[in-house]
Amino acid sequence: MPALLIKNGRVVDPSSGQDGVADVLIEDGLVRGVGAGLSAAGAEVFDATGLIVAPGFIDMHVHLREPGFEHAETIESGARAAAAGGFTSICPMPNTAPVNDNATVTSYIIEKARKHAMVNVFPIGAITKGSKGEDLAAIGSMRQAGAIAISDDGRPVMNARVMRRAMEFARSVQIPVIDHCEDLHLSAGGDMHEGLESVRLGLRGIPACSEDVMVARDILLAEVTGARFHVAHISSRHSVEMVAFAKARGLTVTAEVTPHHLALADSDMPPYDSNYKMKPPLRSGCDVSSVVQGVVSGAIDAIATDHAPHPGSEKMQEFEQCPFGILGLETALGVALETLLHPGKIGLPRLVEMFTANPARILGIDRGTLGLGAPADVTMFSTKRAWTYDVNKSFSRSRNSPFDGKTFRGGPVATVVAGRVVWQI
Ligand SMILES: [Zn+2]
Repeated sequence: MPALLIKNGRVVDPSSGQDGVADVLIEDGLVRGVGAGLSAAGAEVFDATGLIVAPGFIDMHVHLREPGFEHAETIESGARAAAAGGFTSICPMPNTAPVNDNATVTSYIIEKARKHAMVNVFPIGAITKGSKGEDLAAIGSMRQAGAIAISDDGRPVMNARVMRRAMEFARSVQIPVIDHCEDLHLSAGGDMHEGLESVRLGLRGIPACSEDVMVARDILLAEVTGARFHVAHISSRHSVEMVAFAKARGLTVTAEVTPHHLALADSDMPPYDSNYKMKPPLRSGCDVSSVVQGVVSGAIDAIATDHAPHPGSEKMQEFEQCPFGILGLETALGVALETLLHPGKIGLPRLVEMFTANPARILGIDRGTLGLGAPADVTMFSTKRAWTYDVNKSFSRSRNSPFDGKTFRGGPVATVVAGRVVWQI
């Protein structure tokens, strides 16, 4: 493989504090140099003038649907959508069929990804067998097989004793516990956020407190066990406040927010449009302001998409029957730029950090940096180029996005994985 020289881009690497125009030299799949006026004989040159050159983006929360639901997404199609969204690493949740609750499934995913995925795939193992919330999954052997965290995403662990044991075990094998925080008794039967809008539409509500009580419980268990606890897709005001409180106490508690929870409130949903149905649901305008503020203050560490493909046949049903979840990989950066950077809420280094250094730190993986000798994963993007998302041209096998037809100012331009340009506009 020839060397790759990325010339004249604005290199933004929060892992080293770098922010300025520079070249990036890549050889043998590794970063060999970052600086002015680099050259290498025989290198392929990529002119990045006017672009941002960042460490490869990491999406720590996706659903790839394989094994078991390949009609919705495969490891290959999901990885392609990731590359087109500027992501070089993705972490699939274990709610496949079979559930990724043992080393055989973990190894299967890793092997499939090695053969068919154009980006890095770091699987997340289940917390409990079958994600049923009862007996702990084979956490130690999954960890050895390559799982980088555990979660029962989509089926939260309701039993606090089981969660405590899981945290103790996760701590001993040095991986984080990621919880989809939802008290299923409080949310039961709900289809959208409980509030004025749900009353207006006559739909059953999912109250914000169904999220808050689980965030509170897990923070307390994290303190008891010393585990690294990560809140998936945080969406409510009180949850953000509690994560900030936990951080202030010195706990290793972190949180991610999805682009859609930054951009949309329940009142933005066209009536009964299932492309706006997800868990947690789009919350009130007050909650949206709080998660944005959580990004500004640092209470929230990462942006993750919760990319959740569902085929049209399932999403076309009546609202109450539709599954929860929307696509996210290809629109994440565009939405983040529109909601955070362009309104001046945060600067570019902070934005890049939430896609790179922070998820890498939370997960303990050797990514999210352009440091010398690091794997050469690079995301190049524009903050200016206008483009319109057409979901029918998505690389995903599914089409469920609320951002179809939306025009963004800025987005991914080229994606480099292990020194190879795997996608560009
Ligand atoms: Zn979830």
